[in-house]
Amino acid sequence: MGSQEVSTVDWQGKHVTVAGLGVSGIPAARALHERGALVTVVNDGDDERSRAQAAELEALGVTVRLGDGATLPPSTELVVTAPGWQPNKPLFLAAAEAGVPVWGDVELAWRLRGDDGREPAPWLAVTGTNGKTTTVRMLASILEAAGLRTAAVGNIGVSLLDAVLGETEYDVLAVELSSYQLHWAPSLRAHSAAVLNLAPDHLDWHGSMEAYAADKGRVYEGNTVACVYNAADPATEDLVREADVEEGCRAIGFTLGAPGPSQLGVVDGLLVDRAFVADRQKQAQELAEVADVNPPAPHNVANALAAAALARAFGVEPAAVRDGLRAFRPDAHRIEHVADIGEVAYVDDSKATNTHATEASLAAYDSIVWIAGGLAKGATFDELVTGAAKRLRGVVLMGADRALIHEALTRHAPDVPVVDLDRTDTGAMSEAVARAAELARPGDTVLLAPACASMDMFTNYNKRGEAFADAVRARADETA
Ligand code: ADP
Repeated sequence: MGSQEVSTVDWQGKHVTVAGLGVSGIPAARALHERGALVTVVNDGDDERSRAQAAELEALGVTVRLGDGATLPPSTELVVTAPGWQPNKPLFLAAAEAGVPVWGDVELAWRLRGDDGREPAPWLAVTGTNGKTTTVRMLASILEAAGLRTAAVGNIGVSLLDAVLGETEYDVLAVELSSYQLHWAPSLRAHSAAVLNLAPDHLDWHGSMEAYAADKGRVYEGNTVACVYNAADPATEDLVREADVEEGCRAIGFTLGAPGPSQLGVVDGLLVDRAFVADRQKQAQELAEVADVNPPAPHNVANALAAAALARAFGVEPAAVRDGLRAFRPDAHRIEHVADIGEVAYVDDSKATNTHATEASLAAYDSIVWIAGGLAKGATFDELVTGAAKRLRGVVLMGADRALIHEALTRHAPDVPVVDLDRTDTGAMSEAVARAAELARPGDTVLLAPACASMDMFTNYNKRGEAFADAVRARADETA
């Protein structure tokens, strides 16, 4: 099936069960109801909020069943699920037994795009364990610089369904997809797609690393122009090899080293393209300077190269890659420079909630006072600590699972001073910053990159990052 082919499902009278009231379930139920489907929403929870949401849907004529997300209504012909619902739930087992297909929010958006007769915009898709949001935002910035009508959508806070059905017309969409969304999107066919990297994450949901990788790999299925992979992460290239793509679709690698033919890479401080040029054996096209990437940390340069590869696959000119990267501003709490105090830089990477992300951020600085800890989610820290040991001036640990990190430090970096903070009250982050400041020497970076989730002490990683930034700013004011 060509990527621009749109399916024309006749929704009239079709019995659709929507699994989950929530950010994806409510718009899905509405869109399907508007098209004449007979919609039943099933939801595990039965709290005040869901009752209010249910009342609104029921007023439209949608059936809502609260407190029972497990039973499949007998007449169901299709299930549309929220992406986070785990595949081993009884509802899905019942659907499989009855031969009923299950679509996620992305599949639904893919199937409904263009059903109002408008020409649907192609999708440039990004997935991977870390760096998705950054890469998709860089990509949207580049596409905008090229004068294209675009938006960063998907697992980024802007629903694909809204983007596809809304009034705004797009030339192309920059789409972030999670492994959950890909699991439930069997017929998605992107114009081009990138898998940034693959490290163990969410394995409880997918069941195994193989299943997780296979779901990520779905993003390449049916690509028409380019499958973009990370040359430093062979697992991503394996996924390209296994994918069933359209005739003529190319495998394009990105690397932090000098690029080979059909790759984008880095030469003498420049981002260069040896893939989308007339003669890739002999020619390389300069796209931008490494200094145009914000921040120019190695993992972020990799993100920029992936974004550039997708944009170039879509035909974007080199100058727009440069302009788009220059215009890009990272989201909050992602290697965000908060302040310099004395000659010490304070950087907030609260979004580094797993060891793979933290590894990248520790690799970006030469001499670090590292603030870490929180909920480990089953992770181990030996590899992370071994890789970073030489660059650690000191470590401040906080949060529920800090002992796990402390033990790894004792094993692999016994000479690095460690402050173990045994407090979880609201003043804990201020003390962490104060203790980090004592350890730091001129030229060092104090880096919050916890390698853990935040919920033991904070509502979410945003709040954790804000607490850090507040503490740093208060200190900067004191010393000013
Ligand atoms: P995602 O959307 O995949 O969670 P983000 O762009 O929000 O990714 O970045 C999350 C965190 O992952 C960042 O704070 C940074 O520490 C780390 N990170 C970003 N890009 C990469 C990368 N290419 N490789 C490894 N870690 C990365």
